[in-house]
Order: sequence, then structure tokens, then C-alpha cells
Amino acid sequence: MDNGSRQIINASGNVTVLGASLASRASVAAATEILDHFVEMPELHRQASQVIANACKAEAGCVTSCAAAGICVAVAATMTGDDLARIETLPDTTGLKNQVVIQRGHNCHFGGGVAQMVHLSGAQTIEIGSVNRAVGYQLAGAITSDTAAGLFVVSHQTAQVGMISLVEFADLCHAKGVPVIVDAASECDLEVFLQQGADLVIYSGHKFLNGLTAGIIAGRKDLVRACFLQHIGISRAMKVGREGIASTIAALDRWSGLDHAKINEQVAARTETAFSRLQGISGLTTSVEPDPTGNPVSRVRLKIDAEIIGFGAEKFRRLLAHCSPAIHLRSHDSDQQSLLIDPSTVTDEEILLVAGQISRLLSNPAAISLSGELPLPPSENLQNWPDPPPYVAVGID
Ligand SMILES: *Cc1c(COP(=O)(O)O)cnc(C)c1O
Repeated sequence: MDNGSRQIINASGNVTVLGASLASRASVAAATEILDHFVEMPELHRQASQVIANACKAEAGCVTSCAAAGICVAVAATMTGDDLARIETLPDTTGLKNQVVIQRGHNCHFGGGVAQMVHLSGAQTIEIGSVNRAVGYQLAGAITSDTAAGLFVVSHQTAQVGMISLVEFADLCHAKGVPVIVDAASECDLEVFLQQGADLVIYSGHKFLNGLTAGIIAGRKDLVRACFLQHIGISRAMKVGREGIASTIAALDRWSGLDHAKINEQVAARTETAFSRLQGISGLTTSVEPDPTGNPVSRVRLKIDAEIIGFGAEKFRRLLAHCSPAIHLRSHDSDQQSLLIDPSTVTDEEILLVAGQISRLLSNPAAISLSGELPLPPSENLQNWPDPPPYVAVGID
């Protein structure tokens, strides 16, 4: 099995380990074009700032190498402001406010740890509350003269109940003069978080925007300026090239011209297709579930009855990922015997293939033969890298 050439069907959404998204023609063309000549980088960044400002209804914007870098750079900006000497001495934070308050239920792992991205800048994280509960007085009590920023994470990976809302979080931070950074890497609404009180908001350029690998920071002009200036400091080690900036500009232009209502309908139709084709299978219960953070996508949830099927959700998702073509489902709660089909990263043809393969395997699980224990999908199996991951033949009679 050559993983390099196996066809991959991504029904799990914009996940980094599978390449995040398909790059739009517009963003690729913009990158190709700009790579042909020299530019003045601050000028290009300035153009990007205007495009981001328009798209996000912000004062200014800055392109970073990715959203994870955006977290680090935004935190750095709240510590140093536009003081070049300070910028050049990070991650040494001696004499600076260097604490970032975050709700414990927001301190999640998106493929990398949010806290680690903060720590990269030299800042410390101060967690408030418990994994399932945080309240305003805990936040107010944690803000001191050492607080550089409040960090608010919007993601399905965070606790979805019991947290302080962004509006209240921002009010409490602002009452003490503390700026609020929102990590909205996977969110599609480019305006709402600034409206709700964020001073800086971070998006990914290569998730729903279908740009090349990049991140976007939008918000208050003085803070965005301080983000931009980090390129003479720590963000030199996470530099975005001119191709990343040009492709992000093109991706935002494209996004503003898309017929979102029509695209949302097409995505919803794929959900409906998968849902309707997975009815009446013994041991499988399906439901349609809206995105937990309000993105315009509903996913099909598959509940596996391991007693009836003979194996659980984790084994099933590994099975699908070892088939050819490989099918990747959204599987962060496979330990709850649950998997999700994400219709936003597949084509109309692929959703039929996905539903067809799931139906075929679960309708007759006895027909599946394996040559050994199923290891993690090759995309997640780093055990022997750079040697190939373990091979398991999946036979279907
Ligand atoms: C994907 C994601 C990131 C990282 O985004 P990149 O652009 O891939 O670095 C950060 N935070 C959250 C909540 C994410 O979902």
C-alpha cells in the first residue's frame, strides 16, 4: 500500500492532518503570480490589512503563517505593543505584563495545544474556573497588573456549556483595561466576534476560506500594528511569505463574492443524501446535528451498537481509513461509539461513495476480514515514521 498515492476522501472537515482544505483556484493563481516578482513586504502587508479590515469590519488586519502562529503573535503584541526593543527580546518577558487569562474549558487541543501557542511567545497562561464551569467573578479576580490579555477560544473542541460568554468576558476584561483575543480559527463568521467585544480575532486562511496555508488577525489598529511588527522578532520563525499573503487576499476576495446561500444548500443536500442512504441498517442509528459553534453545516452522526455490529466506532473509523479509497470521518468522540460525516469537505460524488461504503460494511460486518489488529489510520500513525506505518489488509467478501 502506497499512502502517498492512495485516494483520500476527507469527510471529517478542515483538519490539518489531511491537508486542511482544497485550495481555491483564485488563491493558487494569486500565489503563482506574485512568486514571479519581488515586492515590498510592508506594502503587501498593508494591502492585506485593508482587505482584512473590509472583510471583518475591523480597523486593520495582518496575515500570519497560520492561525496557531496568530495566537502566539497576537499574545506577543499585547505584551510588547509597538516597542521594538521589547519585540526583539521576546520570549524574555522580564518587566512586561505576561499573563494570559483563559477559561479552563477553553484550553483545548486543536491538533496543537492552545496554551503551548501562548507559551511560545513567552507569556504564561492563567486558567480560571473548571473544565465545565467558569463564572465572571473568577475572571475578574484573576486579572491583575500582570495581565496582558484575555484569550477566548471558539471551537467545537472547547466546553460547550458552563463557560462565560464572549460579551461578558470582553466586558470584564475591558473594565480592567485588558484586551481580548479570540481564536476563531475554524469559524466562518468574519464579523461577529469583533462585534461581541474582541480586540483581536484570529482566523485560519486555509480552512473554510480555501486559501493557501496562512492565518489572519483582524481588529484594533494599534494591536494589529504590534502584531505586524513581531516580524522583526519571534514571528520571523513563523514567517508568512508573499505567496501566503497574496493567496489570503485572493481567498478573502473570493469569499466575499461567493453565493453563500447556494453553497449552504449544496452542503445541506449532501448531509441529506448521506442521512437518507444510511437508514435501516441494524446496529446503526443516525441523526443530523448542527455545528456546535454555529457554522453553516450540519453533520450526520453515526451511533454504532458494538453488540450488534461486532465492533465499535473506533475500529470502524480505522477500517474506513485503511480502505482504498481511504475514507476519513470526524471521530473525536469515537469513544462514545459515535462518528460524524462532515459534508463540507467532500464532493457530491464522494458523499455517495462514503455512504455506500459505510452501508456496505455495516450491513454485513461478518464479511470483513482483517490480517491483524487495526492500527491507527496511516495519517495519525507516527510510530515508525519515516518508515511506512503498519500495513493491514482489509478484505471485504
Ligand atoms: C485549526 C485551529 C487552529 C490552528 O489553525 P491553523 O491555521 O491550522 O494553525 C487554532 N485554533 C483552533 C480553534 C482551530 O480549530
